[in-house]
Formats: sequence, structure tokens, C-alpha cells
Amino acid sequence: MNRPDVGAELSFQTAQYTPGMKWNTAGNLRRTAAFAVLPLLAVPSSFGWGDVGHRMINRLAMESLPADVPAFMKTPEAIAEVEYLGPEPDRWRSPSEPELSAAQAPDHFIDFEYADVIGTLPRRRYDYIAALTAAEITHPDKAAELQPSRVGFQPYITNEIWERLKAAMRQYRDLSAKDEDTKPVEAAILFYAGWLGHYAGDGSQPLHVSINYNGWALKDNPNGYTTEHTIHAKFESTFVADNIKAADVRPLLPAVKPAVNSLGEEWDAYMSYLRHSQSLVEQLYQIDKRKGFDGAGTPEGKQFTEERLAAGAGMLRDLVYSAWVESAKSVPDRQQHPTAPVAASARSNAGVLGACG
Ligand SMILES: [Zn+2]
Repeated sequence: MNRPDVGAELSFQTAQYTPGMKWNTAGNLRRTAAFAVLPLLAVPSSFGWGDVGHRMINRLAMESLPADVPAFMKTPEAIAEVEYLGPEPDRWRSPSEPELSAAQAPDHFIDFEYADVIGTLPRRRYDYIAALTAAEITHPDKAAELQPSRVGFQPYITNEIWERLKAAMRQYRDLSAKDEDTKPVEAAILFYAGWLGHYAGDGSQPLHVSINYNGWALKDNPNGYTTEHTIHAKFESTFVADNIKAADVRPLLPAVKPAVNSLGEEWDAYMSYLRHSQSLVEQLYQIDKRKGFDGAGTPEGKQFTEERLAAGAGMLRDLVYSAWVESAKSVPDRQQHPTAPVAASARSNAGVLGACG
């Protein structure tokens, strides 16, 4: 066995299923070493919630949409299409498309422990990048960790796809009102809904919002949580595929509630959702310590996982429904809803960073 080759391959495969693909040299060496001693350990072929979880989330969300969405979204074909698209962004992680794989990897996660260094997160991706970049200078001890691609863009990609979906739905309303062909925009709407579902689903997985994404990474570990780099795939892929059924998740879906605030922006609702996931990170490690996700797991492990998948499906349903409702609103003029010029963004970020200790 050519050990360096095996090491390189295993290191790559491991990086595929972690949410971060964080090319930290030490981390990669650590992961490679962990796998080198377990050469026969099966490496999952899918990531995020895994194929099973992402498909389940997207299907349950579509099946539970309120009755007043357009009829084309309720057909079995539409539901099957959105279900198929649940794992779609994970299909963009192939070594056959290395640039795409690298560019989109940070969209799947956010490490709040680092993101929070900049204070309240700005709503626009490039303002966030600018703020983190500035923080690298004001926090030189954390400069490597504060690189935007290592902190992650989870809420940004979700917000941006939600807005794409809303724009397409507005177009659908417009074409319908003119009695024109809506088939092309229907295809766009289903694609955006399915794509959105992937990230809404990732957001319910506590290990997608923390630096403890694959083994307890904080120096303080008084409770002795696992530091093995296997918990991520075990929880979201292996355990789900082997033990979780859609029929058990469906009854746990939360009641429909609009995923927007009074200004028609879904950002705050989605951030609360991510923060709730963050609040469950330690509980996940506690359940893991009690073997809750090993093999057939425990009732506690199953319940936790089913609730998280239901939360993901509920959030996707609410996002899709809110996009539909919001798409009926007239477009504000640019005076009310300006596109911030770059210079203004930079100034506002300087203000944010001024409060950063
Ligand atoms: Zn993902």
C-alpha cells in the first residue's frame, strides 16, 4: 500500500464531507492521521445531511406548503424535482469541478464563534467579507481563522437564493397576469426552491454553525466530548440513512409561520433559526457521548435528529411560502431600498468594527 497516496486520498475524502473544507494544514494532517490508522473506515459518499436527509427535508417542505401557493408547485412532479435538488450543492463538490468545489464550499456553514468577532452581522455578503477582512487586521492573533472563506457564508447564500426565488415568483405573477406562458419561470422557481432547501437544511444541523463541526475543537473540554473527526458524518449521514424515516419526521414539523419580519426581510427569522441550531451544539455532543448516534442509536438520539430534520423542512416551507407572499408586493423605488455603494458599505463596516474589542 502506498501510504502517502492513501493519506492524500483519505485526506481529500475527509475534507469532502466536512462542512468547512477548511484547509488548515494542522487540521488536515490530524484528519489524515486519524484515517491512516483506520484505513478500512467507510468514508461517506455524501455530505451535509447526506442524500437521505436533504431529500427528506425538501420533500416534506414541499408536501406541507399551504394551499394558496400556485398549483404547479403541488404536483407530484414538482415535489419530486425539489426533492431531487436537495443534495444538489453537494454534487458540486466533485474533484471533476475543482474551482466550483472550492468556491461554493464555504456556503454550507458558518462558524459563529469567529463570525461574532465583527459584532452584528451585516446583511450583505460583501459587507461581511469587508468586516471580516478588517477584523483580521485588528485581531492579528485570529487572522487565519477570520478569513471569510474559513468562517463561512451560510446565511448569505440562503438569503441570496431566497431573493432569487422571490424575484422569480414576482415574474410568475407578472406573466400570469398577462396570460403569458409561465412554464419557463415555473422551472426556475422549482430550481431555486430546491437549491434553497439544501442550505435551509444545512442550517438545522448544529454542526454547520460551530467551530466544533467535527469533534470538539475548543480548548476547554471539561465534559470530555469526542474530539474524533467522525461525529459529523456519523450524525448527519450514517445515523440518518440507517435510522430516520420521513413518516417519523413529518408529525414534528413546526406550524407554518412567515419567515419574514415587518419589513418583509427574512434575514432576522433565518438568523434566529441558525442561532437556535447553535444553541444545540453541546446537546448534540452530550447525546453522542451517551452513544445516542451509534448504530441504531437511542430514543433520545432519534428524537433529536428527527426534530432537527423537521426544523429544516419547516424552515424551507416557511421560506418558500414567504417568498410567494412577498412576491406580491410592489417593488420599492431605489430611494426607499437603495443598493449601497461600496464606499458607504466600507464606512458602515468601519463603524461595526469600532465596537469590536
Ligand atoms: Zn451542505
